[in-house]
Amino acid sequence: MGMFCYQCQETARGTGCTTRGVCGKKEELAKLQDLLIYTLKGIAEIVIKGALEIDQLDEINEQVLSSLFMTITNANFDEASFEKQIEKMLAFRDRLREAAPAVELHDAATFTADSREALLEKAAAVGVLATENEDVRSLRETIIYGLKGMAAYAEHAKNIGKEELPINQFIYEALAATLNETLSADELVALTLKTGEYGVRVMALLDEAHRSRFGDPEITKVGIGVRQNPAILITGHDLTDLEQLLKQSEGSGVDIYTHGEMLPAHYYPAFKKYDHFAGNYGNAWWKQLEEFVSFNGPILFTTNCIVPPRSEEVRARIFTTGSTGYPGCPHIEADAGGAKDFSEIIALAKTLPLPEEIESGHIVGGFAYTQVLALADQIVEAVKTGAIKKFFVLAGCDGRMKSRAYYTEFAKRLPRDTVILTAGCAKYRYNKLDLGEIGGIPRLLDAGQCNDCYSLAVIALKLKELCEIDDINELPIAYNIAWYEQKAVIVLLALLYLGVKDIHLGPTLPGFLSPPVAGVLADKFGLTGIGTIDEDIALFMGR
Ligand code: SF4
Ligand code: SF4
Repeated sequence: MGMFCYQCQETARGTGCTTRGVCGKKEELAKLQDLLIYTLKGIAEIVIKGALEIDQLDEINEQVLSSLFMTITNANFDEASFEKQIEKMLAFRDRLREAAPAVELHDAATFTADSREALLEKAAAVGVLATENEDVRSLRETIIYGLKGMAAYAEHAKNIGKEELPINQFIYEALAATLNETLSADELVALTLKTGEYGVRVMALLDEAHRSRFGDPEITKVGIGVRQNPAILITGHDLTDLEQLLKQSEGSGVDIYTHGEMLPAHYYPAFKKYDHFAGNYGNAWWKQLEEFVSFNGPILFTTNCIVPPRSEEVRARIFTTGSTGYPGCPHIEADAGGAKDFSEIIALAKTLPLPEEIESGHIVGGFAYTQVLALADQIVEAVKTGAIKKFFVLAGCDGRMKSRAYYTEFAKRLPRDTVILTAGCAKYRYNKLDLGEIGGIPRLLDAGQCNDCYSLAVIALKLKELCEIDDINELPIAYNIAWYEQKAVIVLLALLYLGVKDIHLGPTLPGFLSPPVAGVLADKFGLTGIGTIDEDIALFMGR
């Protein structure tokens, strides 16, 4: 087998990509990613066994987050940047080892490889399948994928100057634990839930970072048509990149549009002052193949999800930054203070044709918990009178699979006395439907990006308090979550940690859950897949 990866929902046959990723990841890239993760485990072991003080490890802490983030599905396709990152992390690792007291260390903390061939040879021996027991592998990988999502959120928060070292400490502990052959399955299950606990912490941290820097999200109408100016499309999740791009392009005659997960940026007061922040263009990440063609202008990726472009014309308009990368596309690096120079992108935009309109009108979002809780009395009253029978958390990721049409139909067929709470790019499956209102409360409340699932959890916890009930599962809230990649894994683990039961996860259950591990999650938490739309609605409404 050339490669093995089963970290995302689109994994081949639902079991694993073995020759080339459905996402476009090639064998050598997959191996370099495996080796980078293995190197991080070695660093973590030195930190934990050596009892190193992580407040002395600023740069390494930061680079561990970046390394994990780079390996998220669709974030970085550039082999050269992985080789460079492995070399950098090996150098950090070796320096740390010298500083750590003499302890017996795992191979991950000591191996050497001084050429590309040696790196690839080593990678072939330390990938996912190196853990032979299927259930241990399943639990270890669930933890690793949760850590990748956690690292992504921690990096965004760090970019805004917010950091919580206990989160970094947990990342070291959990990475090191995946090398520990003595841990029992029960201990690994406990660690999986602890990953969820830190998932809640990191999402709270990012929420605080976003709100303190950009203000509380507001209910906002976002235009989806185009204006008659040259334009740049920005996608991904990093709001500090957007902030810098907006500042640098102000007064240039170039408009800025969001794509995919960047849409919720429009909800923040800090960005509303920019007249050239023109609207949202298109839909979820996977529609980029067609939507980037008609956009015509440059595209800036701040995070995943990148789909390998089909034409040289589109590739020549793509720029990456942060943890993203694509071969042949310019990568904008930050200087030591975090500043990035986007002038090349702005200059290119002026030379390219204007965006072609693909739709018109607007969509509405910005229902973060601060906004929803301002309506709390109205909502509780509507629940008490029966005007609202149920809330559906219909959130998470979108993807290419045809079976995801389920979510559009599900939203359409829900009874009119239900309200949908959403976050993440799953929203594009139903955010352009006219779902109406209940007594002035819109039936679709979009909280924001996938990390804003935290907002949905805060809403649930507050409703529990207002309704004076003890168990979050007694609330009239059903969870039907769509997943795609590893940020969805940390969101799921966070919800499990908060005690949410009976989550339906689709469109398919993760291939990395072995049958016994899936069984434990079903028994302990009622976690299950989706069925037919009518059966699922009947089941949810009957609960
Ligand atoms: S990220 Fe997903 S599609 Fe890509 S190689 Fe891994 S499992 Fe396959
Ligand atoms: S919600 Fe998930 S799949 Fe969608 S853009 Fe965000 S990270 Fe990617």
